[in-house]
Amino acid sequence: MTVRGVIALIPDACTSCMLCVRECPTWCISLQAHPEQVVDEEARRPRTVNVLDTFAIDFGLCMYCGICVDVCPFDALEWAPDHDYGAATRAGLVQPIERLAAWLAPP
Ligand code: SF4
Ligand code: SF4
Repeated sequence: MTVRGVIALIPDACTSCMLCVRECPTWCISLQAHPEQVVDEEARRPRTVNVLDTFAIDFGLCMYCGICVDVCPFDALEWAPDHDYGAATRAGLVQPIERLAAWLAPP
C-alpha cells in the first residue's frame, strides 16, 4: 500500500515537461529550467533538452490529491512516507528540490 506522506522528486528523471505544474489543481508546483544542446555522435544535428534548475512544492497549498504523481510521464514524482516538514512560517512550507529529492533517499 502506498503511504501518502509527502511528494518526493527524482530530479534526474524530470524532463521539465511542466505537465505536473499545469495539472496541479492548487498551482503549488513551480519549476525553472533552461535549454541545453546535446550532441550525439551518431546524430546529424544537436538536440535540445531542458535542464532542471529549480523545482518546489508549496505544502501550504498542496491538498495531497496525487494528481502530479499520476500524470508525470517519467515517474519523476513519488509518494514518500515522511511528514517531517513543519515550519514556523508560511514560506517555510515551500520545499525546494534538495528537500524533495532527499525524501527518496534511504534513511
Ligand atoms: S498532490 Fe495534488 S495539490 Fe499536491 S502538488 Fe500534487 S497535484 Fe498539486
Ligand atoms: S510531470 Fe514529471 S517530468 Fe514533467 S515536470 Fe513534472 S515531475 Fe518533471
